[in-house]
Amino acid sequence: MSHGFEINRHGELVCLTAPPLAESGAAAHFFTTRHGGVSAAPFDALNLDFKVGDDPGSVAANRKRACALIGAGFDRLVAGNQVHGNRVVTVDDSHAGRGARSETDALPDVDAMVTAVPGLVLSSYYADCVPLFCLDPVRRVAALAHAGWKGSVLRIGERTVRHMADKHGCRPGDVLVAIGPSVGPCCYEVDGPVMSRVEKCLPGVSGLAAYVKPGHWRLDLPGLNRRVLLEAGVREENITMSGYCTACRGDLFFSHRAQKGRTGRMASFIMLTGG
Ligand SMILES: [Zn+2]
Repeated sequence: MSHGFEINRHGELVCLTAPPLAESGAAAHFFTTRHGGVSAAPFDALNLDFKVGDDPGSVAANRKRACALIGAGFDRLVAGNQVHGNRVVTVDDSHAGRGARSETDALPDVDAMVTAVPGLVLSSYYADCVPLFCLDPVRRVAALAHAGWKGSVLRIGERTVRHMADKHGCRPGDVLVAIGPSVGPCCYEVDGPVMSRVEKCLPGVSGLAAYVKPGHWRLDLPGLNRRVLLEAGVREENITMSGYCTACRGDLFFSHRAQKGRTGRMASFIMLTGG
């Protein structure tokens, strides 16, 4: 599979970026890998989530490194308490620091965040689910959405782009989207109940699922999100796919499926620049 994201090395810390977003000049962004942190196995090394059983001091140290990489203070970070829903919220300066130092004050029930405030760092956490980065370089609005299979079939990508349009005046045709590393169609086997939800989300879903055996299909979750975003009015040429499977690439990524639940979390970060 070809890779739309580039690998960047900053000393020990390795992260990925989508060139069209970087080249827009409107925001800094990245998706982390497992490399460049201080956590011990099985969270080695750059685990960025407090909720997985890692030492909280290690997670805080790792988050500080990630914030330093984007060039913002730790107190500018915002994190949601992700629940595999499809709620989208706008965040501003009043939310700065929420969920940064512990999970207890993270924004409740939030899987997608949108901001128009430069210097605020949106963050979202992953170990196989699909990370969506959205950026409107015209209106200068940025968003992150966390899309597991539930969020994906609840069309969280479309909800995020609609929120950018309704609340911030963005035109979907201006929005750049980057779909980051997640479990790929090579490794994501689902059952009948999941497939029926997929069919309901995208009737006639051809090309997104491969039959394996009775009751089992392999689902292309990043492809499903791409299809939903196209239906929301995002232009095909404005969508960048990472091409990385988190389950195949244990050398780079944490994977809930591949590591049977005992693992760390990567993060997506985005911050509007200028203003
Ligand atoms: Zn794979």
